[in-house]
Amino acid sequence: MLKNKYVYSVGSTPMGTSLDIVSYEIDSEKEGKHIYIQSGIHGGEITQWIIHELFSYIENNLDNGKVTLVPCANPVSWTQRIYFSTNGKFDLYMGKDWNRNFPGNSEGSLGERIADVLLKNAEKSDFAIDLHTSRKSIPFGIYSKEEYKKYIKIIGVEYNQYIGMETKTSYANTFNACLDKKGIPNLCIECGSHDAFEAEYVKKVFEGIKRLLSSFGMVKDQTIERAPQRIKTFAKTVKYTSPKGCLIKINKELGEKINKGDALFSCYDNNELGKEEVIKSDDEGVLFKESPTHIYWSGDDVVQIILSEGIEELETE
Ligand SMILES: [Zn+2]
Repeated sequence: MLKNKYVYSVGSTPMGTSLDIVSYEIDSEKEGKHIYIQSGIHGGEITQWIIHELFSYIENNLDNGKVTLVPCANPVSWTQRIYFSTNGKFDLYMGKDWNRNFPGNSEGSLGERIADVLLKNAEKSDFAIDLHTSRKSIPFGIYSKEEYKKYIKIIGVEYNQYIGMETKTSYANTFNACLDKKGIPNLCIECGSHDAFEAEYVKKVFEGIKRLLSSFGMVKDQTIERAPQRIKTFAKTVKYTSPKGCLIKINKELGEKINKGDALFSCYDNNELGKEEVIKSDDEGVLFKESPTHIYWSGDDVVQIILSEGIEELETE
């Protein structure tokens, strides 16, 4: 077993410090698949819990092939902090989503240099996974091709969103869309909430990735938990926004079933002290995403619901 640690410099700060991406490669030295898993392209999206678990697991269980783990895919987005809040979804220099710089350019902007290193590494693999978190949310997979359904069935995360990245220009420069163009099968997994440790979600994603490694024949482990019998796919979601600047309390739990007429959230406006405005649902579905705040400006996203009408159930193996 070979364990290599590679350091890729993507540039430097004005202070002269090198900006590095650290990558770990665990190589069984036996012919097999090569899996690439990265975490943290967006600062503050803590999915490294899963990478830590995976590293020890792979060290002890890899039978053939090799696995590349990149615990922090972006050495800049994680530096964007204000007090205890890491604000790493957008590049604060140019306002761009850090996951819209692919395929990247080694002589381009800092974001493009980072993307260039990541994609060049990922495209050497047979399968790539990009780990994220999504505001305050339950875990869900994101897949960009119908043929990837077989992988989401193996991983077994309960909800999986289909995003046709080939036809949506807003996704054209994501890590996943660019891997699609290169013919590397891939998934994105939203592992739960930002800046959180959600033990149950960490375990779910970790177990799912173990099942994937096992399905590729890379680990021989009889103790891996079976996937849930059914998973769900969806493509249709609906967003509820704040009608005005106010404080908001959400009345439903993440993962909860929503019926038409249910009270979704309550608004508290300083211009109408003592009053509570309740926003009700016009839709039926499942609450899967909330904004991680109580403080809202007019039109801000509050909650997102997976619409029942678009949910498809799939049997796993
Ligand atoms: Zn993200």
